[in-house]
Amino acid sequence: MPSRPPQLRQQPARTTSNWDRRKSRHERGYGREHEAMRRVVLAEEPLCRLCRAKEPPQFTPSTIADHIRPKAEGGTDERENYQGLCDPCSKAKTARESARARRRAR
Ligand SMILES: [Zn+2]
Repeated sequence: MPSRPPQLRQQPARTTSNWDRRKSRHERGYGREHEAMRRVVLAEEPLCRLCRAKEPPQFTPSTIADHIRPKAEGGTDERENYQGLCDPCSKAKTARESARARRRAR
């Protein structure tokens, strides 16, 4: 994967994003309601949605209630914006979203 020269990592973190990582999970909207939604999503989608979409499909248990459209990109907490994902798929999706966020911040 192409990356910027190492010396650029020394720059201070940008602070223009309103996605404030210093806030607690609760302040970011991951409180009790998220926990209830997580149970609903995992009950309805016991198998990872991205793994099932693979060719051939894989059947991996969902462990994460994922925001299909990230809250940092304007996603909602409605049921239709959630999907059940396994841990590796969730991490890969989060990494892609972080890369998008970094591009937006430039
Ligand atoms: Zn998966």
